[in-house]
Amino acid sequence: MRSAASTSERRELDQRVVCECGHVVYDGEVIRARCVHPESGTAKCRCKRWVAVPVGLIRSAG
Ligand SMILES: [Zn+2]
Repeated sequence: MRSAASTSERRELDQRVVCECGHVVYDGEVIRARCVHPESGTAKCRCKRWVAVPVGLIRSAG
């Protein structure tokens, strides 16, 4: 009966965001982008494409 618990944990990992260029913009814990717009919930990938990330759930590292 642990499947339910592991499923909820998996959900956080599934929030991983990969850009169309293949770069992992958000690995489920850290946003790997040079620019982040918390207001619009997007991060700028290294390919200069703006990708939607769950930035509202993340504490900015500065
Ligand atoms: Zn990209």
